Amino acid sequence: MPRPIRATIDLAAFRHNYALAKRHAGQARAWAVIKANAYGHGLLQCAEAIRDIADGYAMLDLADAALLRKAGLTQPILLLEGAFEAADVSEAARLNLGLAVHQPEQIRMLELARPPAPLDLFLKLNTGMNRLGFRPAEARHLVERLRNTGAARSITLMTHFACADEEAGIADALARFDSGAAGLALPHCVANSAALLRFPAAARESVRPGIMLYGASPMPAMMSAEVLDLRPVMQLESRIIGVQELALGAAVGYGARFVAQQPMRIGVVACGYADGYPRHAPTGTPILIDGVRTRTLGRVSMDMLACDLTGLPQANVGSQAVLWGKGLPADEVAAAAETISYELFCALAGRVPVAWSF
Ligand SMILES: *Cc1c(COP(=O)(O)O)cnc(C)c1O
Repeated sequence: MPRPIRATIDLAAFRHNYALAKRHAGQARAWAVIKANAYGHGLLQCAEAIRDIADGYAMLDLADAALLRKAGLTQPILLLEGAFEAADVSEAARLNLGLAVHQPEQIRMLELARPPAPLDLFLKLNTGMNRLGFRPAEARHLVERLRNTGAARSITLMTHFACADEEAGIADALARFDSGAAGLALPHCVANSAALLRFPAAARESVRPGIMLYGASPMPAMMSAEVLDLRPVMQLESRIIGVQELALGAAVGYGARFVAQQPMRIGVVACGYADGYPRHAPTGTPILIDGVRTRTLGRVSMDMLACDLTGLPQANVGSQAVLWGKGLPADEVAAAAETISYELFCALAGRVPVAWSF
């Protein structure tokens, strides 16, 4: 029998979440952001699951986009970091991919490339994140330059918000964006999941939801996934493979970080940081055993973690353990581990078998 850990991916939930994103987007087109192997959920499986309703897909890698084309997906595809070298421009044109343009070298690539077909270009403006993009004040001049390359089939103005999920919101950034965009009469693409859910006016002509498609909240401290009607897509589950009876004062795991304050029963679950479970998840991180919520104990090891079986007398070797999924939002586990659901999903390790279902 294989080691009992596995991830199941609920593609019906993924479809539900994408449809919900589209409802929030109203008239705007919704690019399904499926970078990073669809946030760990499977690039092709997720893309295929919405092929009849998807307005388009957004990702990073040309090779991933080529896979989608090979699978017969004909929707628009947007590469969010654009071309990395000149040859990418022609390849993108050949595959009918849209390109973000965020730095001067990419404009030079377009000027020199003479691509076989014109491309949909997304000029990225830096509205305060200071990661990618040009100053909004340069937009008019840069749009001229992009037009003069002869490589543009369309030009969209784009930005990415630093604080869409924070108290601060997007007002300042959007004002900077709009000052650069003023008078250009071009379509806009600005909203990630948080902006789409919190600020409907940011939907503009197209939106880029990512995390919400996977059923997690982009701002779990403000609004839970459940309140947002988002359905969990990934479930990470395993089984108890060992049980220990602890005496008062007995310790658990590496570093003896948990010490029993009374005699207690604990379960050892076949899931560790080499499976993608966060090692820094402390004692008290929620876990479901046979559907009942309990807590982890002590340090997470490479291949195992311990959980409290107090009040779970039926639990034993073979009991189901849900690390996150239905009944235990990844957002809660992420909060306990002082990280975000994005990181948990993306960290799902290659050694964990994945099963997709509708
Ligand atoms: C990842 C990403 C998104 C999606 O963000 P979520 O917070 O997952 O909705 C949107 N736009 C860009 C440029 C991104 O890199």
